[in-house]
Amino acid sequence: MAKTQIYYDLRDALGQEGCPICRLTHQASERFLEGLIYEKVNDPKMRAKIRAARGFCREHAWALDRHGASLGVAILLRDVIREIAQDLRVYGEDDEGAQNAWRSLYDRPRSRSKTVAALSSRGECPACAAVREWEQAAYETLFEHLCSGDLMQLYNKSSGLCVPHLLRALDSAPSAAQREALIRAQLPLTERLLHNLDALVRKSDYRFRDELSEAEAVSWLQAIAAIAGERVSSFPEKREDLGR
Ligand SMILES: [Zn+2]
Ligand SMILES: [Zn+2]
Repeated sequence: MAKTQIYYDLRDALGQEGCPICRLTHQASERFLEGLIYEKVNDPKMRAKIRAARGFCREHAWALDRHGASLGVAILLRDVIREIAQDLRVYGEDDEGAQNAWRSLYDRPRSRSKTVAALSSRGECPACAAVREWEQAAYETLFEHLCSGDLMQLYNKSSGLCVPHLLRALDSAPSAAQREALIRAQLPLTERLLHNLDALVRKSDYRFRDELSEAEAVSWLQAIAAIAGERVSSFPEKREDLGR
């Protein structure tokens, strides 16, 4: 079976702590943003995408805050801010929906104000879109190599997928057999975490504190990562990690 770069990336990430897809999507988003700021600032198609999306989602917008990015970010976001200023000028004065603006968010007027419609994004955050595309390819590779047994052993020793990525992977499984293979691989890891959490709670009594293993002691943090995804700051920022 052909082994792509994604296969090797997955294999490496499975050998490290935490959800491999969290780690690799973080790397994919870092690669995208680095390429954007340092190579694609003047790419007209990319500029149009960014304008249409009204910039980036909160996570990726703040991920632009990095050394040496000020000029690139200023050029990219000047486009967006210019359009926002323009829309506020054009629609702000005579907006049919404006009389409803005092209403609370929970009691929205039925029709959207023209200003809100104009200011709203017409496309997905370009970094989210790039990561999603990468992620889809990663799930395909994961399923392929889990079923062939290639990655199964590594998966069994890994932290497994966080729940948000598990759900997305299961949703994109090409067949029931592949879905079952992933569930079979994930279940013992989830049970191991539960076991460690049980032990942490049980041994919280000072008399047993010395008996707490390292895995049990960190299980509460692993539980947070399991339900919500890894903490981004736990991944290294080094450029060489981004590779290629
Ligand atoms: Zn994850
Ligand atoms: Zn985003």
